[in-house]
Amino acid sequence: MTGTATRTEPSRVLFTDFHETSERNIFAKLDEMLARLPLSNAVHAGDIVAVKLHFGERGNTAFLQPHFVGHVVRAIQKLGGRPFLTDTNTLYVGTRADSVSHLETAHQHGFTYETVGCPVIISDGLRGTASVDVAVEGARHAPVVRLAHDLAKADAIVVLTHFKGHELSGFGGAIKNLGMGGGTRGAKLSMHSSVKPKVRPKACDACGRCAENCPANAITVGRHAGIDHRLCIGCGSCMVVCPNEAVSISWNAAASELQERMVEHFAGFVRQKHGRIAYVTFVNRVSPACDCYGFSDRPIVPDLGILASLDPVAIDATAFQLVNQAEGHRNSALRSGHAPGADKFRDLYPDVDPEVQLRHAEALGLGQQSHVVENVL
Ligand code: SF4
Ligand code: SF4
Repeated sequence: MTGTATRTEPSRVLFTDFHETSERNIFAKLDEMLARLPLSNAVHAGDIVAVKLHFGERGNTAFLQPHFVGHVVRAIQKLGGRPFLTDTNTLYVGTRADSVSHLETAHQHGFTYETVGCPVIISDGLRGTASVDVAVEGARHAPVVRLAHDLAKADAIVVLTHFKGHELSGFGGAIKNLGMGGGTRGAKLSMHSSVKPKVRPKACDACGRCAENCPANAITVGRHAGIDHRLCIGCGSCMVVCPNEAVSISWNAAASELQERMVEHFAGFVRQKHGRIAYVTFVNRVSPACDCYGFSDRPIVPDLGILASLDPVAIDATAFQLVNQAEGHRNSALRSGHAPGADKFRDLYPDVDPEVQLRHAEALGLGQQSHVVENVL
């Protein structure tokens, strides 16, 4: 067809819901998804394969369930891969701030060799400093990104994501899981550098909840709370826990820049792995905020299904649309966006445009939002 622009084929995203029968349970459906993907595009015999997930902060219950993780581990092993489960240490003080406490938390949450069938290794070393620097051509903020060492050195990565809301990026999907979650402490600091919370003294009744929950001890409370920006690491916790909505962030700049920096760190892995990354996203127990908190709250929508793709932008766009198309739970953190079609993430975080991450990833050539969904029945 001369004279017409070349059109790119939409990316494939495989989907199964949680309908099961006695002949065909969710694991059989997951097996078919991985075979049709195919997982063998990313995982080759003999590969050391990093399975990137989030083990959940202690007290959280929404994180990805070990039985799903163990099943994907066995699928990797059947292809001849040698998987290990991994995440990186957190920026803030908590139950995953160094590799010792992180492994203890992972084990308490059911991620042990006995349950999942492979080792758990924290990718950025004992204290979150083991890194590999990668150049990201075309980056707006981070031309060189600092990736967690063991994730960078693995032959392939399988990104297992629990899809949920997120106070800084609107939603947390595959891009956030690997982009933010695959960075060292220094990388995370650079991603959060635009977040500068402020307290509105008139709205603050000096309850102290923000100071108790600040992982950087950056808040002191006198007649009202005050934040020391030299100590603040931009985690957003104070905004989430304040009962009076007295903490605000200059969102337009902060949330957009944070998402763009997160995407650029993600790009470091994509550029480095040359197609050896596969994505599986679980859209169940969709909590309003990140698994980094020591609580989860009720899910905002029913359990919707599992997605798999080789395109990270397409899988995140699909999960985002799935949640928005669902009927929201009335007794959840949703304020008014319960109707099918309403943007659930804008409802939770009105000042955050969650689609910045999709657009920036597309602009950097990491994938495309255009997709076709293949149903696995
Ligand atoms: S964002 Fe708030 S809770 Fe987080 S480190 Fe800064 S002041 Fe503390
Ligand atoms: S949680 Fe909110 S109301 Fe309580 S001290 Fe902090 S800013 Fe003030």
